Amino acid sequence: MSINVEPLRKILELEHKKGYVDSAVIGGLDRFLRNWASQAIESITNPQLLNRFHKLHLANSNYASLTKQQRKEWVKGVLDFLAEVEHREGEKGEAKLTPVVSRPPSGTRVQRTVVSQSIDAPITVIRGISSNLAAKFNKLGVKTVRDLLYFFPHRHLDYSQRKSISQLTEGEEETIIANVWQAQEVRLGGRRSTEAIVGDETGNVRVVWFNNPYLAKKLLTNTQVVISGRVSLFGGRYVFESPEWELVEARELIHTGRLVPLYPLTQGLRPRQVRKLMKEVVDQWAWQVEDFLPPELKEQCNLLELPQAISQAHYPEDEALKDRARVRLAFDELFLLQLGVLSKKRDWQEGQPGSPFSAKITVLDTFLKSLPFELTAAQQKVLTELLADLQKSQPMSRLLQGEVGSGKTVVATATLLMAAANGYQGAFMAPTEILAEQHFATICQLLSKVGHLEGEEDYLHSYSGLLPHPLTVALLIGDITQSRKQELQQRILDGDIDIAIGTHALIQKGVEFHRLGLAVVDEQHRFGVTQRSALRQKGFNPHVLVMTATPIPRTLALTLYGDLDLSVIDQLPPGRQEVKTKWLKPGQRDSAYAFIHRQVASGRQTFIICPLIEESEAIQARAAIAEYERLSQEVFPNLRLGLLHGRMPAAEKDKVMRQFRSGELDILVSTPVVEVGIDVPNATVMLVESADRFGLSQLHQFRGRVGRGAEQSYCMLLTQNPSEVARQRLDIIEKIQDGFELAEEDLKLRGPGEFFGTRQSGLPDLRMAKLSDVGLLELARSEAIKLFEKDSGLEKPEHSLLAKELARVWPQAGEWS
Ligand code: ADP
Ligand code: MG
Repeated sequence: MSINVEPLRKILELEHKKGYVDSAVIGGLDRFLRNWASQAIESITNPQLLNRFHKLHLANSNYASLTKQQRKEWVKGVLDFLAEVEHREGEKGEAKLTPVVSRPPSGTRVQRTVVSQSIDAPITVIRGISSNLAAKFNKLGVKTVRDLLYFFPHRHLDYSQRKSISQLTEGEEETIIANVWQAQEVRLGGRRSTEAIVGDETGNVRVVWFNNPYLAKKLLTNTQVVISGRVSLFGGRYVFESPEWELVEARELIHTGRLVPLYPLTQGLRPRQVRKLMKEVVDQWAWQVEDFLPPELKEQCNLLELPQAISQAHYPEDEALKDRARVRLAFDELFLLQLGVLSKKRDWQEGQPGSPFSAKITVLDTFLKSLPFELTAAQQKVLTELLADLQKSQPMSRLLQGEVGSGKTVVATATLLMAAANGYQGAFMAPTEILAEQHFATICQLLSKVGHLEGEEDYLHSYSGLLPHPLTVALLIGDITQSRKQELQQRILDGDIDIAIGTHALIQKGVEFHRLGLAVVDEQHRFGVTQRSALRQKGFNPHVLVMTATPIPRTLALTLYGDLDLSVIDQLPPGRQEVKTKWLKPGQRDSAYAFIHRQVASGRQTFIICPLIEESEAIQARAAIAEYERLSQEVFPNLRLGLLHGRMPAAEKDKVMRQFRSGELDILVSTPVVEVGIDVPNATVMLVESADRFGLSQLHQFRGRVGRGAEQSYCMLLTQNPSEVARQRLDIIEKIQDGFELAEEDLKLRGPGEFFGTRQSGLPDLRMAKLSDVGLLELARSEAIKLFEKDSGLEKPEHSLLAKELARVWPQAGEWS
């Protein structure tokens, strides 16, 4: 069935005759157009026509609200479009408005041979992709045709503005269309190269391609060629040096004269080859991608059709369409992310019932009264929220955000105590062993104030007096001897241990719980969705509390962690001061050391963070040892220094930490492992080496290690040779103390996906979405919620494509509950 343009033309002509008063059709033109457009769009297969069709906004025309003059122009635009449609129909018989299924789009050569192949077939089904070439693409993560369609350029060069030769400007990226007068092989700098003279009606210009003699044979005299590249001046005359070029043929331009895509490349892939291939792939396959978004949603949010968005993301007609393509593709990512997260939340809530705790008020009161301080109002509010959750049979799923030093640990301890008082076990997980050890020490210290230490074994303490049975706390980390570990694991399984503290090892195979009721996960940005799911499978559908000191802007938190409820401790304990922060150039190193000398002389302690080394932990450890020796011998020979790195045996780490905490050491030299959580109130100086190589959140974490006591604290950031972006970061951290504000700034500075490293968090990739794109985030979220309310299982027939797509990007969906 092809669409008849005649009625629309008649109506528009009538509208013109009546003077644009919107009286040509009963019910108004807008309504008629909506109807017409929704049918027409099904039938337009030609990409160019489809583009123009979209630009006209026929489906959401809003004609009624236009002024008379605007209406006049608009009607003319649509009539032109209709004329074009008919013209093409008559001329080539190709661009007829016919249903997509019965006709492949026009304009490409190999179309008909591949229509039956699925886009999930390996890329070798594409003509021109050998297994050799396929292997190169595989290295870039591209395996199927679909992957290739979603293999987007990282940016585009704008060669869309054509100039005449007389208008060329030195130093600019320019595009000309010219006639080849002559082209020949020449020697340039000892290399075989091509030199050509090309001209248009305004003048001639020289073009050279270094190291490429073969071109001379392709650029025949009197052929038309498009040249795009930077114009330079040589010997007083303009020249293009190794520009992009392309013969003017009937085919569309790929390398020149347009917005030209730049693809991420790997060895053995040449830019021209990839561009040419991508053009063919896009023309041929993009139109076969099924658009999974419901049409009303697309219309309401004014989103491009998916095939068009894919095609425009590669070979955009203009900047505006390029942007709209990105918006559509980014919307998809965020929308699917949100749907996935929502259905995960539902699964958890509707799955096995959890373990409702009863509030053991006496135990809680006794514990809180024993603390050396009063909870802040924010801690109290959050604790109340948590206790309310814990009493429900629906398991808690909560994200607790709180600035560094806001006192999350004590709140977490209170909830773990609740679990134990209710006869359940609690697990407390930290990202590093050092932190797990510290939590063990902190919790034991807190409990020793309420209970009586009854038993003390390696990695296990028990306290009597608080609960009817002795409250037993154990530490489970990697360095424990195998036999001791097995023993502890057995006792966890037997239910002897109330609170188990450890790293992620706690959720690895081998550790089974007798009756796990609550899991607390500290510093959650290192603890992804997958790990959280694994935890759930430890049985009993425990309450889960996830804590983070990386402040996440609210919208972002809701999007990435929409499966969790949100609590915020938005207040620091009283008496905390601003940490004076300054970034220093290499020349200021000595004055930094002198400052540390003075601070230590007045009884304070210092952290020194070693340079960030990406390589292995072993190399990092070695560098830290070298730095420690240099500092001990050359810089601070009369002070007491300690060393901390990830390769040390647990007992040694423990000893160093204890010594530092108790004041037996003046300076702790450490690899960046102390980044999170370490708590030593008497430390007032934080010196970070190669600070320009850390992100804002990480620097903020370092800074949070000091300023915990009553004394004024300082953070000194040493830099080597900061880049422009690094300078911006350092300026920001000097000025801003508030973690949330910093997070917002961090988001602005960083690229897509980087902020959270979605890859390691187990969430689907965000390639097009920028997390700073708050408007789009909010739109995607609200649309996902709306859809979820209507059809949370995506069971309605109009959502079947969406359900399929969701299953594709969230393959682990089935394992959530
Ligand atoms: P974080 O939120 O960074 O994990 P911690 O739980 O380590 O913070 O707490 C930081 C420090 O503040 C600890 O020394 C803790 O004992 C102390 N603290 C916690 N709550 C309070 C409070 N309400 N008043 C005073 N000090 C507190
Ligand atoms: Mg902490």
